[in-house]
Amino acid sequence: MIIILKETATDEQVNHVVERVEALGFSAHLSRGTYRTVIGVIGDESKIVPPQLEAIAGVAQVVPVMPAFKLASRQAHPQPTIVEVGATKIGGGNLGMIAGPCAVESAERLDSIAGAVVKAGANILRGGAFKPRTSPYSFQGLGEEGLQILRDVGKKHGVPVVTEVVDPRHVDLACEYADMLQLGARNMQNFVLLTEVGKTDKPVLLKRGMSATIKDWLMSAEYVIAQGNTNVVLCERGIKSFDSATRNLFDVAAVPQIHELSHLPVIVDPSHATGRPELIPACALAGVAAGADGVHIEVHDKPEEAMSDGPQALLPPQYAELMDQIRKVAAAVGKKI
Ligand code: PEP
Ligand code: MN
Repeated sequence: MIIILKETATDEQVNHVVERVEALGFSAHLSRGTYRTVIGVIGDESKIVPPQLEAIAGVAQVVPVMPAFKLASRQAHPQPTIVEVGATKIGGGNLGMIAGPCAVESAERLDSIAGAVVKAGANILRGGAFKPRTSPYSFQGLGEEGLQILRDVGKKHGVPVVTEVVDPRHVDLACEYADMLQLGARNMQNFVLLTEVGKTDKPVLLKRGMSATIKDWLMSAEYVIAQGNTNVVLCERGIKSFDSATRNLFDVAAVPQIHELSHLPVIVDPSHATGRPELIPACALAGVAAGADGVHIEVHDKPEEAMSDGPQALLPPQYAELMDQIRKVAAAVGKKI
């Protein structure tokens, strides 16, 4: 950590900062320049509360050397993490292809969608049983019955399943049925929920909050890892913007940024990012070309009957066509499905 003093800092103030640093058990290395004095603080900086140092008279800025998301950081773990969801691997050259309807609606419907997406190459089936809806009057999901259907259909088609948890009280229940727990955009900073899923041994799909910075997102991953669960997969699903032309703004640059900052795999969700089926293929391919470790896509065979997110769903043949294109881009960037 580096403490930068104000140009106007007096000798007395500088000495006081050094005393405070030493009193906290750290060694202070003073360096006086022509205009500015800086103090290098040597020791485990996670034990320091930077705002306390910033509050000392004469201090202009406290600059950490380690990122605040130290467990999620590339520095802490230079090799890419590979997350295993059943037999599916995500990261380190392996693509996680997550597909399925927004919500589990019935066993028959999920079975028919699952058959199509697995045939096309999906290696994880998705479906929401607890739906985080903007309106309390919208379909909220089938709850435990939806989890049972998801598990059974996943087993039948030989793929692991992922589903969203929206309530810390449902984490144990979801663990009984799902192979991976999704934390949605609206819950990315639900710290109680992050802590609860961090106590499980289930892989976690952590979607980016719609107004979250990359750092906020990695700090949320840190919450999960800090509890001992290192199996976190990040998912870029678009952020809010001023433009209503698309549902959200697909931040493809988040993919290489995450790879630079963190060892965690990151996948893209062009369905929620764009909200428009005609834009999904291009954004899915762009995500894979940018180095994404997987693609999350909503697929429905009867969008006009879907209980949620029907307008953004790809039809099964569209998904199969996109998978053929994704395979080509994946091969070009050295990834396998
Ligand atoms: C979903 O995956 O159906 C969902 C609600 O996604 P998000 O949290 O990204 O909006
Ligand atoms: Mn959805």
